[in-house]
Amino acid sequence: MMTNSGALKNLLDLSVGEIEALGSKMGWPRYRAGQVLKWIYQNGVSSISEMTNLSKVDRDRLQAVATICRVPPSVPEVADDGTTKFLGLLDDGLAVETVMIPEGHRRTVCVSSQVGCTLDCGFCLTAQIGFRRNLAPREIVDQVWNARRLLGKDESISSLVFMGMGEPLLNFESLAEAIRRLTNVDWGMGFSPRRITVSTAGWVPRFQDLQQLGVNLAISLNATTTHQRHLLMPAINKRFDLMQLIEASRAYAKRSDRRLTFEYVLIARVNDSLDDAKRLIKLLNGIRCKVNLIPFNEYSGSPYQRPSQDTIDLFQQAVRKGGLDVYLRRSRGDDVLGACGQLGRMAAEAAHIVPTRLLRKVSAHAQP
Ligand code: SF4
Repeated sequence: MMTNSGALKNLLDLSVGEIEALGSKMGWPRYRAGQVLKWIYQNGVSSISEMTNLSKVDRDRLQAVATICRVPPSVPEVADDGTTKFLGLLDDGLAVETVMIPEGHRRTVCVSSQVGCTLDCGFCLTAQIGFRRNLAPREIVDQVWNARRLLGKDESISSLVFMGMGEPLLNFESLAEAIRRLTNVDWGMGFSPRRITVSTAGWVPRFQDLQQLGVNLAISLNATTTHQRHLLMPAINKRFDLMQLIEASRAYAKRSDRRLTFEYVLIARVNDSLDDAKRLIKLLNGIRCKVNLIPFNEYSGSPYQRPSQDTIDLFQQAVRKGGLDVYLRRSRGDDVLGACGQLGRMAAEAAHIVPTRLLRKVSAHAQP
């Protein structure tokens, strides 16, 4: 990982072990590495000179070999409902989006794990920019710090959801390291793992690894037949089809003391019929779970539409009658494209990335 300070090590790129090793090279007692980590993750300092419980000599010695390079945020955009969206401006000119959603004095932060995404879910704006790269742990954690800096005195972050750009389980090592830094209570940001949810399109082989991190799992289901899932989420469905996903979810739920969440983006005339509701009930039968219905948020260029409110209500009632715990997720921040499935446009514009679908269209037009 490059830093913008030449040969100096960015402390945020180092693991706990590496910071301890750096300290022991300088002859420090072990607890001093803990002090440095606290400054970084609990106080969010941006320079070594702010570490005031280190002596001036120790700060100077640390500054001779290391620095702190944080991810600078863009000016935030705030929607009418208070939903706030901002970019993290990365060293290589790319950008990543983060959204903070208000609920009274509390805030939910929607965190990204990749720039773009390798998957190609048809309803998702992020998919249109293609895959650029995985985020490093520090680039994930700094999204949370940048969100925290926007809070007022009596506000706090109540939960973190990995539902931003990218498929988190395809960047698992960085995700796991970021979660360790976010949850450590001795030197980290101290979030309870119970307040962190990781949402996946269905990358089944990492379910067990994720479970060991103690966080919640949400599965972006969106379909009640393999054919429908292939239409909406072709890349993931080719690897793990609907039945494999349901079986893996069932096994996960059996091992877990938490309820699984299934996310279901409701799309007009695609997956919003009463037959879909019946199939959904059957598929999830016996799995301890809840279902979040997310009415599709239309954006320009998308082939899909949001169902009418009547259709949404009928779908919800039918699923509820079938014995499932089902919630309707209110769309938040759609005037700044901060609603579900709508991350990506700001980041694409900031990094001058042309959405891949547009590229495809351009090259199709160029064919003789
Ligand atoms: S919905 Fe999630 S997994 Fe699918 S393309 Fe978008 S970001 Fe990737």
